[in-house]
Amino acid sequence: MNILKTDQIKKIKICGKILADSLDEVKKKVRPGITTIELDELAEKLLRAKGCTPAFKGYYVAGAGTFPSTLCVSINDEIVHGIPSEKYILKDGDIISLDIGAGYNGIYTDMATTVPVGKISAEAARLLKLTEESLYIGIKQAKAGNRIGDIGAEIEPFAGKHHLGLIRDYVGHGIGPEPHLPPQIPNFGQHNTGAKIIENMALAIEPMLTTGGEDTVVDDNGWTVRTTDGSLAAHFEHTIIIENGKPAIVTK
Ligand code: MG
Repeated sequence: MNILKTDQIKKIKICGKILADSLDEVKKKVRPGITTIELDELAEKLLRAKGCTPAFKGYYVAGAGTFPSTLCVSINDEIVHGIPSEKYILKDGDIISLDIGAGYNGIYTDMATTVPVGKISAEAARLLKLTEESLYIGIKQAKAGNRIGDIGAEIEPFAGKHHLGLIRDYVGHGIGPEPHLPPQIPNFGQHNTGAKIIENMALAIEPMLTTGGEDTVVDDNGWTVRTTDGSLAAHFEHTIIIENGKPAIVTK
């Protein structure tokens, strides 16, 4: 259930702060020459040092298997669920999406950001800026009395207006005592449809946009999702709770 009780709200705020602080530290290490496994090791160390557990490491999905890492690291045309590796060395001009979840005394938070590696193209910079903006456009709709469909109903036309591809195969979700809970939160849809948004609800909102099309393909490893056309993808996510009728970001 993603409607939280008072003690759970306290925990989700602590968890979200630890997660955001940890991701901030990881972001500072992003530069050409570093491997993605080094970022993953740092992320795990930071979370555990502050009393959190990685939410994705060991996460099982039928058909894909068990996710091996703390961080999902998705580079350039990879959209989500990329696996950190000692083989991939970041290079100037890459964009890298870092998606991370944490558990704290039985309550979870989830967040993602896409950051530049060194100097990136104007096209990539525009994608990052607009994808982040689309997240806040979605969050603004997450208020008591609205419905889940209101979130995607604002993100979708925003992406269209800026001629960016909108990923439809992967969606946001409820969160709380488990990292992924109903309802699904698509980044497209119609106003005034879907579940009603109510006080103390915890939601993970996570638009993914591309510089090209909307089709996705999964690598042979069962996890890494990339754009079929090879276009660049970006991903921004926050966990929020509805407090005093309004969205409050906990992963900051
Ligand atoms: Mg998520």
